[in-house]
Amino acid sequence: MCWCLQSRYSCALGCLRISAHKVRSCAPCELSGASDMHAGPLDWPAGGIEVLGRCPVCYSNSRELLHEQLLDRLFGTPGLWTLHRCECGVAYLDPRPRSDFLYLAYRDYYTHQRQDEAAGIASLMVRAKALIRRQYVGAKYGVRTRHSPGYALLRLFPAQTNALDAFMRHIPMPWGGRRLLDVGCGDGMFLAHAQLAGWNVMGTELDARAAAQAKSRGVEVFLGKVEDLLQSGVRFEQITLSHVIEHVADPRAILSAVRSLLVPGGACWIETPNIDAYGHQLFGPAWRGLEPPRHLQLFTRERLRLLCEAVGFQAVEDAPWHPDGWVVLEASMKLARQLDLKIDKGEIKKLRYFGSQDPEKREFITLCARC
Ligand SMILES: [Zn+2]
Repeated sequence: MCWCLQSRYSCALGCLRISAHKVRSCAPCELSGASDMHAGPLDWPAGGIEVLGRCPVCYSNSRELLHEQLLDRLFGTPGLWTLHRCECGVAYLDPRPRSDFLYLAYRDYYTHQRQDEAAGIASLMVRAKALIRRQYVGAKYGVRTRHSPGYALLRLFPAQTNALDAFMRHIPMPWGGRRLLDVGCGDGMFLAHAQLAGWNVMGTELDARAAAQAKSRGVEVFLGKVEDLLQSGVRFEQITLSHVIEHVADPRAILSAVRSLLVPGGACWIETPNIDAYGHQLFGPAWRGLEPPRHLQLFTRERLRLLCEAVGFQAVEDAPWHPDGWVVLEASMKLARQLDLKIDKGEIKKLRYFGSQDPEKREFITLCARC
């Protein structure tokens, strides 16, 4: 999970304010201060650092310096960080936090907070919109009729339906008691909706507070690494990783475990920030997707596709474009102001358009990989 996105996803069926041309943070995100951006102290604890010397994806030591002196301006985590670009295209932190010190980067992370429909009490209009969205999701992703008014109405608004389809992670219909696993499920909002649609759901989560929030929604949560599920013998028809792979120390290991947990013909939906995004080109060190030190590595679309194939996925395709990446641009504007970077607003408009056309340059890489 990741930053404001979690808040937005949490509210996608309730309070999210979204239109074809504008995306804003939801109320709980603003109230919780998650959108406040501030610099933290400079010192990461002694002994809490590990030096890689090579790419965590392809293991090459051929690289160039991409950014240095990076700060966590979102949650005030201590440390100054350096990002390298491997010859394979992946960008990675080196040095980076040791796994047993990573909790320092997540103490104020917002997935600890349950952010749900309570924020959508504002008005009848908000409730009506939420009802329409739920009808759309229920009709398209659940085992219900498609003749609901919300489904018919929302199909007239492609940006809205694209956002809701992304919220539901483009999962298929849950016929026959099929099982879905969400890796890094956070507060469990997505799982709760997948369960309502008819999926037999389960989440994995490393953070006990986030796991407790997810359980409070009535979903099953495994507190631990997804790799530890392999011994259980349970297998899934669908697995999702939403803004997870950039956070893990060994992305190859987690994808390999996911592949092993899928039944033959099963599918994995995966989304992560795109280091080749137009937004990164425009904003440089102020690009929101960098998020040091929680984002340990950032992929290109091609490198992520190749990694999926390397661990045994047979077919890897782009998921449909959706406008969620635009929130990265608004957050990057705030960071650019902090860094006194002058960004032409005309460039942002161009970026919104072109960024939606080319999957190599979108803010997010969103892939569906099949066994
Ligand atoms: Zn590499």
